[in-house]
Amino acid sequence: RAKNDSRGTFSFFEAGMDARAQSRRKIETELREAVQGDTLRPYYQPLVDLSSGRITGFEALVRWPHPERGMISPAEFIPVAEETGLINAVGGLMLRRACTDAAQWPDDVHVAVNLSPLQFRLGNLLSLVTDTLKQSGLPARRLELEITETLLLEKSSEVLATLHALRALGVRISMDDFGTGYSSLSYLRSFPFDKIKIDQSFVRDLAANPDAQAIVRSIISLGKGLGVTITAEGVETEAEVNCLRNEGCHEGQGFLFSRARPNAEIVGLLKTQGNWSSPAGAALVA
Ligand code: C2E
Ligand code: MG
Ligand code: MG
Ligand code: MG
Repeated sequence: RAKNDSRGTFSFFEAGMDARAQSRRKIETELREAVQGDTLRPYYQPLVDLSSGRITGFEALVRWPHPERGMISPAEFIPVAEETGLINAVGGLMLRRACTDAAQWPDDVHVAVNLSPLQFRLGNLLSLVTDTLKQSGLPARRLELEITETLLLEKSSEVLATLHALRALGVRISMDDFGTGYSSLSYLRSFPFDKIKIDQSFVRDLAANPDAQAIVRSIISLGKGLGVTITAEGVETEAEVNCLRNEGCHEGQGFLFSRARPNAEIVGLLKTQGNWSSPAGAALVA
């Protein structure tokens, strides 16, 4: 509700705060219902090997089909889920569904699941992953877990121990949104990542902007020096993919190849997958 300030003038600031708080509360209530009603689903976006054009795996991205508002973007509700602790339930159900779905895919296709830093704080992440792999029958080597630099900000020894234990299971660990944190390089020394995902902000304008090109080139050579797979996120154009391929980037992910799709479409997509390394750029129609 809007309030008056001491001079009696209408305060747009407070009115704005109220509206935001209300919309957050509404999202929280409805998200809780969605979790309880089990209506959240992973959609899967392909990761493409840039030299062969083949799909190597898929990233699971949470989708919330809302009865009135259509699909709600995770950008809108993940922050609320993190503030309210609901992210633990969301993360748990995404992991279960992703592993169960991927167990039905061909054996050389992996699945990548995003983890929130909060999931590490609960203290049961290792057993959750171990149990989920066992129940789904997915081999550990076909699961990749994506974390962001914020997780490593706290420099917690428990977090590092959990990451090492996950990796000892055979699960791969990848650093998401690389370059958007403020101390990226030191984190690479604190843990042996299997993959680095170059944030899409660097991929944008890659073909036109020499600065973006220089940054991407140095991330790729850094990754190669460390012996990790380099994936470029947010690949939207042929120009970008050509540039990335020239720089020796291993993998790409983006709307050029495909948007995230429901599991029902994945097996069909794998059967008919185009060769994206062809100059014709057989991008899938979303
Ligand atoms: P992310 O992990 O970096 O995922 C990549 C995001 O980039 C996805 O957005 C994807 O749809 C989008 N994207 C892919 N290709 C392109 C492209 O060519 N152009 C553009 N403009 N965007 C592209 P989405 O699905 O909206 O997810 C946003 C973020 O929400 C994710 O970023 C991730 O941080 C978070 N998120 C999604 N699902 C989960 C989840 O299950 N758990 C957690 N903790 N976070 C999740
Ligand atoms: Mg991700
Ligand atoms: Mg990312
Ligand atoms: Mg991102």
